[in-house]
Amino acid sequence: MSPIPRSHPRYHSLLVRAYLAEEMGRGIVAPEGLIAHGRGEAFDYLLGEGSTPFALKAERAAAARLLLSEHPVLSVNGNVAALASREVAQLAAALPGLRVEVNLFHRTPQRAERIAEKLRRAGVIDVLGVHPTARLRGLPSDRGWVDENGILAADTVLVPLEDGDRAQALARTGKFVITIDLNPLSRTTRAASLPIIDELTRALPEIRRQALALRKRPGSWTQIVQGADPDALRGSAYEFIAERLRQMARGTA
Ligand code: ATP
Repeated sequence: MSPIPRSHPRYHSLLVRAYLAEEMGRGIVAPEGLIAHGRGEAFDYLLGEGSTPFALKAERAAAARLLLSEHPVLSVNGNVAALASREVAQLAAALPGLRVEVNLFHRTPQRAERIAEKLRRAGVIDVLGVHPTARLRGLPSDRGWVDENGILAADTVLVPLEDGDRAQALARTGKFVITIDLNPLSRTTRAASLPIIDELTRALPEIRRQALALRKRPGSWTQIVQGADPDALRGSAYEFIAERLRQMARGTA
């Protein structure tokens, strides 16, 4: 591939795309993951390619909920490992109770091990899910495989870039489901107990930053979580996009 000129207005986006294509060649990202990334980029356009106030509010509440949880788990798929292994490791280091589990839609043992190895190299000490030991009820096929000490036992699951079926199945088990998905219309976002409608590599460091700040104020955690109503967060995203489009139609954006 010819080098991407730095002067290109979408240099960063092109760089990420090229990197994801390489990660597909290395067996980390599934071909379908490239399509999912494109869908995310489209919604990021609509959201202005920055963290909105309602995303920041959800990220703060996510930090509080993770701090309150007895058994929180972060679920990692191929795109998440490719884009944010370092951010996953940093979040896990900031929240010692947080377990990290590989969970794949398109699972092969080799792919699961490659992703786990990438996470370990980035600094994740204990990676679950390479040899899953249990199944999540209501999910046929490979997507239902989980670790009995990880997602199966979790009270809170942070699921970035999830597919709707699994997010719904997790929510049905009574777990508190925090999603990170740029698409405010997805079934994932609509199933979430706490939807973070933001880009993954913006969201994870912000959750970490908030967790480090909130650690010193345990008395505030419950109220912060209760203050982040999922319907209101989704509603803010719809309003934000609608308003942006209205401004663009008027030529004032
Ligand atoms: P549904 O949740 O409705 O079932 P889906 O399963 O079809 O949707 P996928 O395309 O499988 O959704 O999931 C990927 C989701 O992840 C997309 O909705 C996309 O918006 C989102 N996404 C992709 N890349 C990123 C990213 N870097 N940061 C945040 N979200 C992203």
